[in-house]
Amino acid sequence: MLEHKEARLPPLVNDAAYNISRLRAEFRDRTIESHFNRHQLPRTQSQVRLALLFCATFYVAFALTDVLALGPGNDALVLLLGRVSVAVSALLSCAMTYWYPHSVRRIWLGASVTEIIGMSTFMLVVLYRPDETPWHAMAISIMALVVYLYIPNRIAYALPIGIVATTVFAALVIYQDRLTETELVTMIMLLVLSNGFGCMAAHRYALIRREEFRVQSFLKNLSERDPLTGCHNRRYLQQELLNMELSRARRFRLPLAVVICDIDHFKSINDTHGHAAGDAVLITFANLLRSLTRENVDSVIRYGGEEFLIVLPETDLGGAVQLAERMRGALIGSGTEVAPGRVVGVTASFGVTAVNFALVEQRFAQELLVDTADRLLYAAKSSGRNNVKALEFYGRESGAFEAHKVAA
Ligand code: GH3
Ligand code: MG
Ligand code: MG
Repeated sequence: MLEHKEARLPPLVNDAAYNISRLRAEFRDRTIESHFNRHQLPRTQSQVRLALLFCATFYVAFALTDVLALGPGNDALVLLLGRVSVAVSALLSCAMTYWYPHSVRRIWLGASVTEIIGMSTFMLVVLYRPDETPWHAMAISIMALVVYLYIPNRIAYALPIGIVATTVFAALVIYQDRLTETELVTMIMLLVLSNGFGCMAAHRYALIRREEFRVQSFLKNLSERDPLTGCHNRRYLQQELLNMELSRARRFRLPLAVVICDIDHFKSINDTHGHAAGDAVLITFANLLRSLTRENVDSVIRYGGEEFLIVLPETDLGGAVQLAERMRGALIGSGTEVAPGRVVGVTASFGVTAVNFALVEQRFAQELLVDTADRLLYAAKSSGRNNVKALEFYGRESGAFEAHKVAA
């Protein structure tokens, strides 16, 4: 349950990770590619449903032409069974998007299987109706375009299906030997053209969608992260993270902890060693906080200048206090080299609070939780700095807690 953040946060943008393979028209990095596919999933699902239902309807409707060409009889019945099997496969593939709403792979599987059954049935039509080859050539050109462009699928799967089907069709036409040499060459050249343009268009479309995703992720990162430390910023906390974590914790009746920490006497570091040294200390501090928290579960936010807020899902007050103490201890044992041979050490004060949704049912504003941690931080500062103050949060403002309830 803890590994739950991957799907909604784009990975930190760096150019290498977002590299797109020009050949496959996919991100080289598998994590980014699967992130992209999950991001597109709702759109892909509705596209695949519409495309497959449309194709299934037409496939069955074309049974009318079998009856007109062959007359009602066994041959038309065989083709009808083939056409119905395509429709059944299309319907099952659509149903799979509801049965497995989070699976991209099953969409590709359903699309590929339906395409293969559709192309195989079409070869039967060609075999049973050899007098209409030019029309069949037009039909397979359209079907190839549908496979490349209209039914959502990986290019790596659509391409072999389209090419093999077109090649088998051309081989069947040669075997049936009903076209003149000129007609045959013209048909093959047109098939190559329609497949070539179809592939190029699909490739271009796949690249454009990934470029778009890269830019979107880049902008999202810019708007949600602090450029100095790489931590999330306050806007992300207030507009997305805290609400999401609170709703999730409430839904599953889990605890959630918030820690606010602030470097002690940070201003004197700027004053003594310069602003750049202060920046270096901030980076060390942020890295230390991140190294002690769980990747993809906890979030470290730069809340203010030298003030950081940490959101700890599924963590109770005891666990959060332990972590804060570990951070405080690790900070004492660390330092930042701000100039050759000059190491600056700092301490920090911590305010810790946690809400346990197994006990708290009432609704409260998210600011109240942060406010409680902030007031605890203030209490830690007032009682000498370099310490941890903690208090359980019960869903309402806790009056004059500084006086008696605060536990170190
Ligand atoms: P306290 O122990 O009470 O927290 O004292 P303090 O000096 O740490 O806190 P104060 O609020 O007085 O000063 C914070 C300083 O942090 C002032 C501000 O110039 C500095 N600061 C804020 N953001 C940055 C930054 O991005 N880089 C640097 N170098 N300094 C920053
Ligand atoms: Mg400070
Ligand atoms: Mg401060």
